[in-house]
Amino acid sequence: MSQENQVSQYDYDLFVIGAGSGGVRAARMAAGMGVRVAVAEERYLGGTCVNVGCVPKKLYVYASHYAETFHEAAGFGLHASGVTFDWPTLRDNKTTEITRLNGIYRNLLINSGCELFEARATVTGPNEVSVDGRRITAERILIATGGWPHVPDIPGREHVISSNEVFDLETFPRRVIVLGGGYIAVEFAGIFAGLGARTDLVYRGDLFLRGFDQEVREFTAQEVAKKGVKLRFNTNIRSIKKADDGVLIAEFEDGSTQEADQIMYATGRVPNTAGLGLEEVGVATDKSGAVVVSDQFQTSIPSIYAIGDVIDRVQLTPVALAEGMALVRALYGKGEKTVDYDLIPTAVFCQPNIGTVGLTEEQARERFAKVDVYRSEFRAMKHTLSGSQERTLMKMLVDQETDRVLGVHMVGAEAGEIIQGIAVALKAGATKAVFDSTIGIHPTAAEEFVTMREPVR
Ligand code: NDP
Repeated sequence: MSQENQVSQYDYDLFVIGAGSGGVRAARMAAGMGVRVAVAEERYLGGTCVNVGCVPKKLYVYASHYAETFHEAAGFGLHASGVTFDWPTLRDNKTTEITRLNGIYRNLLINSGCELFEARATVTGPNEVSVDGRRITAERILIATGGWPHVPDIPGREHVISSNEVFDLETFPRRVIVLGGGYIAVEFAGIFAGLGARTDLVYRGDLFLRGFDQEVREFTAQEVAKKGVKLRFNTNIRSIKKADDGVLIAEFEDGSTQEADQIMYATGRVPNTAGLGLEEVGVATDKSGAVVVSDQFQTSIPSIYAIGDVIDRVQLTPVALAEGMALVRALYGKGEKTVDYDLIPTAVFCQPNIGTVGLTEEQARERFAKVDVYRSEFRAMKHTLSGSQERTLMKMLVDQETDRVLGVHMVGAEAGEIIQGIAVALKAGATKAVFDSTIGIHPTAAEEFVTMREPVR
């Protein structure tokens, strides 16, 4: 930070490359402490989350629920006739909202005192970046360039879309194949199916959502299938051809083929470091291209730091925010200088949602001698009249020895909203006795978490 009566030899104290979640938070917070900050962003303000990730995805998830809701309303005496879906309305309203958010991000940066370059920046030295051919110096450089969808190199790769393109399709596809078994694939299969596309979800393994609790994965597969998504596990696409009429033909490993109007690949995201100049300057990256950093987010070049998806620890917006804030506190302020990666709650916005915090049953059994499993499965009250066959799963894992709650998982409506609160309890070290002594809110689904009396295993 520049000190009064000490003139810095650099143009800026901190130069942030990338105005996504992590970069913007770090830049604003530092500028608010009097640090001279510049930010460069070549694509869109707000990064992946705002433009081609969390925000537009959640808007589309809301949209996809409506079709079901109209249908379910009949059981409550409300009849909606002539319900149609107009994709351009959804897409364009989404774009209007994202444009508004881009403006908010711009104002947040400028009003906090950051200088904003809406251009590509590359690193040209330990204390130097190049923006539009102009050399700019900074005492410290922060790499916050995020990630980029990875699409495997298969014949016909040029015909597929990724999460970068899916939000702005010209027409809504009638038939979609979504390939992958992670967050994005499962969420988009739900969106497409909910909005009326015939949807196939293709995953190379036995069961999607690797890394989640096994029972949660199985339960989610059952529920997602009920919503009309055709699950095709243990297979992969070998090649894709485009017919003269524009129809895509996917050829699977067993030689079978299937037609689709769009094929979406959600096969992971890789750190966005290409052409950034990191190698030339000597910033170490790992084999996936992720920038290697210390606990304090320092790279192998001491004046260069990195946070968020580009360090590929946990690809989640709130984690990038936490990393940005920890870094700024470490460099310029007071308070917690590292990020606690323990007990990160997360949600998959499939239908119904998955919300999860803490250990899976498999992890709990590996780490603790005796684990009690509490489990509740039911049809939510709403669906007694709606006619929907959707079921809800709630699960809690408890260490028998200490009574500590090790993990809580839910598949059901608003699981993300519910698990956020439970995560606070787990962070505070809540025992099962604390859950038991908590009075429920009736009638809710969430009250099940404080009324699970007997372990099932
Ligand atoms: P993930 O890493 O979660 O999943 C990638 C999927 O693609 C896996 O199922 C993987 O299979 C499969 N895959 C990888 N390579 C191939 C290949 N060559 N052929 C076939 N399948 C392949 O990535 P996503 O793209 O879904 O999302 C990226 C990240 O973004 C997530 O990890 C998450 O952190 C974040 N995100 C978070 C959201 C949220 O919080 N709600 C929403 C969306 C994204 P396998 O399991 O066999 O390796």
